[in-house]
Order: sequence, then C-alpha cells, then structure tokens
Amino acid sequence: MNNSALFTAGGVVAGWIIATLWRKLSAKESGPTKGETAPMVRAFEHLNEGVLVLDEGEQVRAMNSAAERLLAWPASSSSSLPAQLEEVVGTEITAAVRSTGEGVALMPIEIHRKDEEFTFKVIVGPAGRSRRFVVLEDLSAISKVDRRRRDFVANASHELQTPLAALIGMLDLLQDANGEYAENLVRRCQKKASSLSLLTRDLIGLARAQDNDWVPSATHINLEELCRSVIENRSEGANEKGLEVSISVPSDLEIIGDPVALETCIANLVQNAIWYTDKGSVSLRANEHELGGVLIEVEDTGSGIAAEHLSRIFERFFRADPARSRASGGTGLGLAIVKNLISRMGGRVAVSSQVGEGTCFQLELPADPAHPLEGAGQSLQES
Ligand code: ADP
Repeated sequence: MNNSALFTAGGVVAGWIIATLWRKLSAKESGPTKGETAPMVRAFEHLNEGVLVLDEGEQVRAMNSAAERLLAWPASSSSSLPAQLEEVVGTEITAAVRSTGEGVALMPIEIHRKDEEFTFKVIVGPAGRSRRFVVLEDLSAISKVDRRRRDFVANASHELQTPLAALIGMLDLLQDANGEYAENLVRRCQKKASSLSLLTRDLIGLARAQDNDWVPSATHINLEELCRSVIENRSEGANEKGLEVSISVPSDLEIIGDPVALETCIANLVQNAIWYTDKGSVSLRANEHELGGVLIEVEDTGSGIAAEHLSRIFERFFRADPARSRASGGTGLGLAIVKNLISRMGGRVAVSSQVGEGTCFQLELPADPAHPLEGAGQSLQES
C-alpha cells in the first residue's frame, strides 16, 4: 500500500469511528440539538484529529481543542462560535468540504499558513438534524518525513549519477586515446572513481549512524591517543597547505564511548578544517566539560560559514560552498554523519563561525552514554 492509500485508509477509519461515536452519543433518530452540540464535541477532546460540527447554514457550531490548535482558533480575541466555515478554516478547507459528498475521505490537501506548510486530510460526514461533522487529520509530520526521504533519494541518485556519467564518457574516449592524452584521461577516471568510492563510504556510514539497530559500543577511550592518531593521519594535507596544526588534550582524559564512531567524528571535523582553511591554523582541543563529560573542539582560521548557512550545514548533502566542497573531495555528508553519531553516543554538536575569520565545532559528550545530555538527538530527522 502506498502512502496516499495509507492516509486515505487511516482517515476513513477515523471518520468512521467519529461517525459511530456521534451516532451513539446523539439521540438515535433526531441527532443533537443546538445545546447538546458543544458537550458532544467535548467527547472528542482526546482525539488528535480536529472535529468541527457544521449546521445547515455552513456555520461552525462547535469544535474540539485539536481543531482549535490545528486551525489556530480563535483567530482574534473577538472571534467566537458560531462562525462561518470559511472564517474558521480558510478557503482551501472550505472548498474541500464543499466539493465532497458526505462521508467521503479526500486526498491530502496542502495549506500554507504564515511561514508554515500544513497538510490536512479532510473528511466530512453526517451528524443528524442536517448537521455535518468535519474531521481534520494533520498529516504535516508524515508528509515532511516523506518529502525528506524523497529529497534524499533524489540527491543521492544525482550525486552518484554525475561522476558515473563522466566516468563512462571518459572510458569511451580512452578506447581511441594514446600518449599524454590517454594518461590524462586515466588520471581523471581515477579521480572520479575515488570520489564515487568516498560517496559510497559516506552513504554507508550515514545509513549505519541512522540505523536504530546499531548500538555504539561503551569502551574506555583515551582521548589523547585517539586525537593524535586523527591528526597524524591528516598531517599530509595540512603540511601541503602550510597550516599550523596543534593539539591540546590532557594525557589522562578518558571517556566511555564508541572509539570508531568518535574517531570518525573528530576526523571529519579535522578534515573539513583543513579543506576549508587556506592559511593559518587548525587546532584540536579536548577537556573535561564543566557540566561533566568532555568537550572536544576543532577550530580553524579558514573561510568561515555565512550565518544564513549555519543552521543547514548538518543537513544531508547541504554545502555552503558547493564548488569548494567538490574540489576538495567533499561528499556533503560528513556533518550529517557527525551529528547522528554524536547524538547516538548521548552528546551534542555546536558550531560558531565568522566569515573570513574561521570556524569552531564543539562536540559535547556525557561521561557515560547511558546518561545522554539534555537535547541529544533533537532535530535528527533533518540530518
Ligand atoms: P562536505 O563533504 O561538503 O565538507 P560536510 O557535511 O562535512 O560536507 O559539511 C557541509 C558544509 O559545511 C561544507 O560543504 C562546507 O560548506 C561547510 N563546512 C563544514 N566545515 C567547515 C569549516 N570548518 N569551515 C568552513 N565551512 C565548513
């Protein structure tokens, strides 16, 4: 069953339950009178779905608090019920209600309100005495997750297809090439193949970091040893650019965590610091956190990140400077992997940056992953 079919099935079930309850609550033949309407809607207070009751003149007589929340009602201090349907629900939902026959579940409709986008399923049914109920099911969260999943698949396909197409083209040319031209083509093929290999490595890394079945190990880690190994493995890139690399970690600083995951995170941050810094320094520091646990900082004197990009850099495939990222060998997935792994170890990630001056990433980790820091895991769906 696809998602739309699922939504429709869910909405019909909700509508059917509400209609059945309504029939039970109302006088069997006649339906509720005016005075009975509000208490009956209160019977639907426990529902997540918004429920509204309409009279024959298309006026809203009552609604439950889920409807008030979803519709941001009362719209002003002077608004009260009864009120015309359009005034309460806006033009899109009114049009949807008018276009449906009784008891028909509609496809989801998208509504833009202020800066937010909502997706509602609208169901209309009979409520006796020429009245109708309208059920609003909020599909916004589901459709956002669905959209993000589709965006991710589209982005990943694009990222894979572009170097693959170039690789295939160059291999074709290579068949008839020789001499310096052939050598040049071989070098370019190797570069494309290695960027494909990095991309698949990061896609697998991200899938693992987001896999709920993966449990980070709880190993005693000596942070100084781990940090030194990260810096040693990346010193060549820093030396080529003439960057000064420093490390400051107390030799006895220990933490309980997953050594492979933690090394991946620190390595990603140090690699980025080297990629995005042309001159100056990269420093890696770790210390006991004032709130317990440890604070690891990777600071550079590089290009910096513009304020409008800062909140997005942990999103999958987001690049503040796409040309520079691609030229350096970036996949656009490094920070999404860092954020997910740190969160799985009960920690948090923060960043501060000034364009032209540099960037500082902070990893906060609890002393024991069994006691995560407050806010660990927030907004992970976006990354
Ligand atoms: P990438 O593989 O492109 O580096 P990341 O997810 O690691 O992907 O980072 C996302 C984006 O954040 C990068 O494309 C870059 O624009 C920006 N960025 C990350 N780290 C730094 C840094 N230390 N200095 C400047 N920009 C950075």
